[in-house]
Amino acid sequence: MSQDPKKPGRQPENQDGDNKQPKTILMMIVAALIFTVFINSLYESIANSQYQEISYDRFVSMLDEDNVDSVEFQSDRILILTREEAAKSAREQTIYYTGLIPNLDLNGLQTQLDDQGVHYQGHIIEQASPILSFVISWVLPLGITYLLISLLMRSMSKRMGGGLGGIGQSNAKVYMEKQTGVTFADVAGQDEAKESLQEIIDFLHNPQKYAEIGAKLPKGALLVGSPGTGKTLLAKAVAGEANVPFFSISGSGFVEMFVGVGASRVRDLFQQASKMAPAIIFIDEIDAIGKTRDTRLGGNDEREQTLTQLLAEMDGFDPSKGVIVLAATNRPEVLDKALLRPGRFDRRIIVDRPNLSGRYQTLLVHTRNIRLAEDVDLHKIAAATAGAVGADLANLVNEAALRAVRLGRQAVNQQDLLVSFEVVIAGTEKKGTVLTDTEKRIVSYHEVGHALVAALEKHSQPVSKITIVPHTSGALGYTMQMPEEEKYLNSKQELETELDTLVGGRAAEQLVFGIQTTGAANDIERATELARKMVMQYGMSDTFGLMALTTVANQYLDGQSMVNCADTTAAQADQEVKTLLEQAYGRARTLLADNRELLDEIALFLLQKETITGDELMAFVNADKNRLPAAGETADEPAADAAPAETPRTEERL
Ligand code: ADP
Ligand code: ZN
Repeated sequence: MSQDPKKPGRQPENQDGDNKQPKTILMMIVAALIFTVFINSLYESIANSQYQEISYDRFVSMLDEDNVDSVEFQSDRILILTREEAAKSAREQTIYYTGLIPNLDLNGLQTQLDDQGVHYQGHIIEQASPILSFVISWVLPLGITYLLISLLMRSMSKRMGGGLGGIGQSNAKVYMEKQTGVTFADVAGQDEAKESLQEIIDFLHNPQKYAEIGAKLPKGALLVGSPGTGKTLLAKAVAGEANVPFFSISGSGFVEMFVGVGASRVRDLFQQASKMAPAIIFIDEIDAIGKTRDTRLGGNDEREQTLTQLLAEMDGFDPSKGVIVLAATNRPEVLDKALLRPGRFDRRIIVDRPNLSGRYQTLLVHTRNIRLAEDVDLHKIAAATAGAVGADLANLVNEAALRAVRLGRQAVNQQDLLVSFEVVIAGTEKKGTVLTDTEKRIVSYHEVGHALVAALEKHSQPVSKITIVPHTSGALGYTMQMPEEEKYLNSKQELETELDTLVGGRAAEQLVFGIQTTGAANDIERATELARKMVMQYGMSDTFGLMALTTVANQYLDGQSMVNCADTTAAQADQEVKTLLEQAYGRARTLLADNRELLDEIALFLLQKETITGDELMAFVNADKNRLPAAGETADEPAADAAPAETPRTEERL
């Protein structure tokens, strides 16, 4: 999910973290203190290990035995070094000491010392400042240990994704917005989804009305759709329309390293929300926790516990309070059945990729605060961006605005929008790549090969632009086709034409230069994919007829399909795919060979201009009186069982 940066007053607050700070600091201070006391006492015991206390009479008898080498008088004690110890090295000496007895006859002692020739001296106490010594022995170590501990904790908490004190407690990255500031007016298109959500809004406004009749509202609704189609935006708009707080967390945010953390986060989230009820709880990427539990790879304890807690919370809370859980996913098929049971996420709201008018509306919404030049035609942009989702369009508009600023203009014009459309699709124009002249010639023929096949065949989409300016995406050139209108059905003929167009690049290379280049790799990949779909999915092959050989596994993510047939059948299907591609290649090559002069003319023109428009292309084609039409063109047959069109392709790489 991403946020619309233009909207003011949307600072998500982190729900906790603030109240935990003082507690953590106190804990750290105590730890540092204990450590310092320990260090100090250790130091003292090491420093005092050389000293050994004796009784005064022992000292006297030492003197009597003439066993004393020297004596030091201190304010409260007498230090004694015996003759044995004096013989040792200073490190190994044991120094005896005895307490000074009050009112002792020091004179008598002094006389005895003198008599025995014992060396004696007093002790000068170096009066170190008490403050300084306090600082050195307490404050400094305390400070240093505190610093060390806090550094340690920070690095640990980074590794664990939560504070040290946060294990087991909620540390969920819950974002709460008291007011989202988003309304349905900010969400373009998606009328069906809005309609389904309208009831929820009404309920949040007026729960009694429903309670009186005894109607139970769903506790949760599942928003299903591809990434970037505006699921988060819709959830926020529901909160905004109902004027209730919006709590959001991502499903992956629940699942942590420690078992049980996710569950406590779920508990905490529902607690927080019910305190502020009525409220909306939004769980993004719910598939991260809601994956079906009987996976063959062995369970994930943490995820299962989290899911169980979520189910328990959803069963537990009183719906009349007005907490509604919205969840988003692009993989509804992996969700645990328990989540979809009545009383949980029993409503499913499809958030589709926008159609033509949806895209136009989205462009309108995102250009609301943008100064547009007169020449801007958003209808054209909407038509060109088939397959794009809301997030792409928002991105496109922003890129255009950035470009306008970069070029020092006051308003965004159509050119900005068109260029940024290409930026989003093909990457920015690459300035650094330099093609050799030969390479340029090949690229030029390759692209014109695509374009000319498209222009000469009947069921093709019109070409809007051909370029041989390299782009950062790696394409050395591309041919852009723009559909005249939104299409949901493609007939077999149209798909065959698309195949012809895709292999047209390679056919031109082969025809003119007699070579095969790596530049056609992407074309070949796409052509193969399309042919495979025709055979295995769309029932367009003679051999298999209506038999489907694949099932779509993942409709909302990438539409990956799984082969669902015997190995021998799959091998046969491969053969069929090969035949389709060979036929397409044959058609394209014949078409180009028949119109060789036209091909040369346009390729040369493209070589000089680097970028030509569809109109320029058609001018050449229409001026050529001897052009030969594509062979084998038959009248249109209605496409009775044609599959829904895949995302129309507008870009054609080298
Ligand atoms: P999702 O949650 O489905 O992945 P988001 O709701 O995060 O997608 O959408 C990302 C951004 O795309 C939004 O912030 C918004 O700017 C833009 N967007 C997506 N769909 C729409 C729409 N229908 N109308 C307006 N803007 C949209
Ligand atoms: Zn190509």
